[in-house]
Amino acid sequence: RRRPSRKGSMADVPDDLLEQIRYLEKIFTVDGAKLKEVTTQFVKELEKGKSVEGGSIPMNPTWVMGFPDGYETGTFLALDMGGTNLRVCEIELLEEKGEFDIIQSKYRMPEELKTGTSEELWEYIADCIQQFIEYHHEIANLEVMDKIPLGFTFSFPATQTYIDNGVLQRWTKGFDISGVEGKDVAPLFEAAIQKRKLPIRLSALINDTTGTLIASAYTDDTMKIGCIFGTGCNAAYMEDCGSVPKIASYNLPPDMPIAINCEYGAFDNEHYVLPRTPYDIVIDEDSPRPGQQAFEKMIAGLYLGELFRLVLVDLHDNKACKVFPGQDITKLRKAYSLDSSFLSAIELDPFENLSETEDHFHRELGITTTKPERELIRRLAELIGTRAARLSACGVAAICTKKNITTCHVGADGSVFNKYPHFKARGAVALREILDWEDGVPDPISILAAEDGSGVGAALIAALTIKRVKAGNL
Ligand code: BGC
Ligand code: MG
Repeated sequence: RRRPSRKGSMADVPDDLLEQIRYLEKIFTVDGAKLKEVTTQFVKELEKGKSVEGGSIPMNPTWVMGFPDGYETGTFLALDMGGTNLRVCEIELLEEKGEFDIIQSKYRMPEELKTGTSEELWEYIADCIQQFIEYHHEIANLEVMDKIPLGFTFSFPATQTYIDNGVLQRWTKGFDISGVEGKDVAPLFEAAIQKRKLPIRLSALINDTTGTLIASAYTDDTMKIGCIFGTGCNAAYMEDCGSVPKIASYNLPPDMPIAINCEYGAFDNEHYVLPRTPYDIVIDEDSPRPGQQAFEKMIAGLYLGELFRLVLVDLHDNKACKVFPGQDITKLRKAYSLDSSFLSAIELDPFENLSETEDHFHRELGITTTKPERELIRRLAELIGTRAARLSACGVAAICTKKNITTCHVGADGSVFNKYPHFKARGAVALREILDWEDGVPDPISILAAEDGSGVGAALIAALTIKRVKAGNL
């Protein structure tokens, strides 16, 4: 019986194409030694980000001052403005420890909005919330309703002087809406809410990672880090106020916990250590914010399909051994036309003849592929997906190293973590290599699917804030 094996199938690939594959393997592979080097630099940058001078990684204080105890109660709204969707939720935190009910509606985030005006953005968001309330509350006159506290998950870097405000530092994930960077987004949001007289009070502005951290800790108290591996990438964890020099002027109790939103997508913006390929450089230069989010641009979902596309276009146009010679690749030339689900499908294609891949290329791009070309395509998807998972592990390893965490759970969310084939397993292998765990020992640190951070997490943070304000603390 014939067993399909990678080595076996690569045997049919002609030498010149094989040479291209070897080249791609060389530039996209990150070995264990490099992962360690990246992690060491990462630890330094996390530390630097907490200093008064700051560094590339923002390390934003979030004013979330501790974990929930599981007994939070009340009804809250949550608004999640992520990369792809807009979601409105109503969450009821129940009496029973760690229990909740949630209802939610998802709205498409129109592509034009991401590069439109500030006004259009807030109007659209307020319209979605209005629709949600009218639909779920069946109240003709919203003005008579009691105001519901809302947690707004705004998944972008923001400077906060307190939990209910946040000045957008810069757009990420391809957003480029004029007139918002450098402004506090809370009043912009509230103005649109007030215009419609919606019964809402903005209680907390949060990041998706902080929401993920808090929501995960609500049901699993060994959760120490909240991560997103999705359209963008980032993590949050708890610090002691006393270890964050840049908030020293607030005179907070040194042992009081505060969640830090690392914004570590910005790791290595100075290009000291990340093994960037020529394709990573093109992604950066053609993005709306060149020089920003160096780490994120190598690993996050928004960029995986684009990396893949750039490599194939280059192999078609510029290499002695071309792929798809003589074919019209107009469709493939369109920037950001392939998303990470395209790569997922290729990685899931059974090896035997890669017929799914053949169909995808034919249907979506109008390109006919040969078997050896499909071998290259498959290997390329694997290389890009593997690199993303391995480098992703460096951020988690760095936080654990810095905080001397030797065992914990890490709560993770995001489309890449939840849907990209082998992402979890590849990340776990990398973590083991970086942290030198002995063979056969179960993973002391494991990255697990998180509770819904931008829904339940946002509600919990609103609840914790209200509790603290009532108690007269902050
Ligand atoms: C944003 C972060 C966010 C991450 C994941 C990044 O681009 O800057 O705030 O947590 O994406 O959504
Ligand atoms: Mg999200």
